[in-house]
Amino acid sequence: MNFSKENIKDYLKRDSIQIYREILINENYFKKNANKIDVYIIKSTSVSKIRYKDLIDKYGKLDVNEYFKIFNIELNEVYEENPFSFPYFAIYDVTSNKIDININLIKQIKKIIKSNEIENIISYKEFYNLVLLHELFHYLDERDKKFDNNNFSVQIEIFKHIKINKTLNILKEIAAIEFSKIFLDIEYNPVIFECLIS
Ligand SMILES: [Zn+2]
Repeated sequence: MNFSKENIKDYLKRDSIQIYREILINENYFKKNANKIDVYIIKSTSVSKIRYKDLIDKYGKLDVNEYFKIFNIELNEVYEENPFSFPYFAIYDVTSNKIDININLIKQIKKIIKSNEIENIISYKEFYNLVLLHELFHYLDERDKKFDNNNFSVQIEIFKHIKINKTLNILKEIAAIEFSKIFLDIEYNPVIFECLIS
């Protein structure tokens, strides 16, 4: 997607659907089934909308940390240089019900926000919340996988005439991004920050 620290302002104005299309076209399945990309964008982002509505209906609109308390999610700030195998901002682990958040990486974004003078578009606090909301989606998704088959799975042929359903994690990533975006009601797509650090 050719993101760079210099043209970040332009990318903040970009259309989300177009960004999702560009992400999905790099997936093997969609390289062969490009005509299904828009269908799967609708399928995965509709999960974000349903999850958001369910959450608000049940608990009201709260600070993200309040949901963590309700769901007993532990938030662990990690200060190591490269704590994860990939430069993730945060990771949710279902077994321990814990989110590890990569503070060094988050601080890099703080610098990028400052040096690009985009604090009026995105504050550091907002970015931090976006990361936590993204992981909150993963928690909700792990807790009940009712959307796996219909919304996050594609049919692939493993042998001639033998087809299986395969869940594509990238679709869940899109849903998590969209969930954080809906929750904070923001125009820009936060995925651009992942591209800046990957
Ligand atoms: Zn994710």
